[in-house]
Amino acid sequence: MRELIDCHVHTARCGHATGSVAEYVAAALAAGVVGMVFTEHLALPKEFDPQQHLSMRPEDLDGYLDDVARVAQKHPTLQIVAGLEADYLPGRIDETIKAVQEARDRHDGVSFVLGSVHFLGDWAFDDPHHVEAWDSVDVDWVWREYFDHWCDAARSGVFDCMAHPDLPKKFGHRPSFDPAEMYAEAARAAAGGGVLIEISTAGLRKPVGELYPAPELLAAFHSAGVGVTVGSDAHDPSEVGFRIDAAYDAAARAGYTEITFPGVRGAWRAIQL
Ligand SMILES: [Zn+2]
Ligand SMILES: [Zn+2]
Repeated sequence: MRELIDCHVHTARCGHATGSVAEYVAAALAAGVVGMVFTEHLALPKEFDPQQHLSMRPEDLDGYLDDVARVAQKHPTLQIVAGLEADYLPGRIDETIKAVQEARDRHDGVSFVLGSVHFLGDWAFDDPHHVEAWDSVDVDWVWREYFDHWCDAARSGVFDCMAHPDLPKKFGHRPSFDPAEMYAEAARAAAGGGVLIEISTAGLRKPVGELYPAPELLAAFHSAGVGVTVGSDAHDPSEVGFRIDAAYDAAARAGYTEITFPGVRGAWRAIQL
């Protein structure tokens, strides 16, 4: 049997999820998960999150890391890793580098940082609160702009892994052009930047009804020698471990024989498929 891991889990601290660290861990144990990574949303600059429903507040970071460390100590049979999901904000990478480095440097600091592109300008294009903005944009432009930012993020050296790689498809919007060349460029960027990519099962719960990334994009990552990990992007304890079997199957179909569990402080290990 394949070991079950989940490397993308939130908590109520981000303002749009439910459940405490302890509740997610209880759910993970019940689901048979052997390794999990908490990846709470790193605080966004205020102007990107005025209602504070997208990310932790800066002052929440300590409590979050304390909770993860305390609960991890209580459950030595489950590998629990403290991580973050950090936004790539074009033109503001220096701020992100600084905030991520501070979080890594702390006692009981984070071991794993997911990089995400959620913003084009100040538009959170995947936020259901702002979905109507899709009606007045050029979908092809969104895809090109998104992948430009995604490649810059992958090459930035800030992130360990790039989350949900083809997120613009979330609500079903597709480019009118063949994305093959864009996918090849994304694969070169991930390989060049030395990042893992995430196979995310969250898309299976969204209108698109598919894993991120699409099979063709995952195949491009595999050809380029990019490693993979898996995550549910759980925002409720009931979602921990959600459809990870489907992510493993997709990885195997793309040619992968193993995926990576990013353990504490660089103690990464391979999970055989
Ligand atoms: Zn979230
Ligand atoms: Zn997430």
